[in-house]
Amino acid sequence: MAETSDWRLFGQEKYLFSVDLIRREYDREQVVNSPWEDDHCEFCKTEFMKHNFPDVLHEGYTTPNGLHWVCEDCFNDFRTMFRWNVVESSDQRSPRNPHE
Ligand SMILES: [Zn+2]
Repeated sequence: MAETSDWRLFGQEKYLFSVDLIRREYDREQVVNSPWEDDHCEFCKTEFMKHNFPDVLHEGYTTPNGLHWVCEDCFNDFRTMFRWNVVESSDQRSPRNPHE
C-alpha cells in the first residue's frame, strides 16, 4: 500500500484520478533514436517499449486514449488511492492472447 508521500507521486491525480484503465500489450512502434517516441510509467518512469531491451516493460495499464501508461507494480500500489476502473479492452488490433 502506497503512502501519499510516495516518491512516485507528483500530481498525477489531476489527470489520472478515477479514470478507466485498460490492461494491454504495449504495441507502439518506436524508433530507437527518437526519445520523444517512448512512453514511461506515469509513476516510476519505467520505460515501455515494444523492443526487447533489458529493463523495459511490454505490457501495462493505459488510459483509453493511450496517452498515459502505468506499470503493473504502480497499478497495484495506487489502484486504491486513485480509484481506477479497469475495463476490458475492446481493441481489435491486438487479438492475440499472450497467455495462450
Ligand atoms: Zn511504475
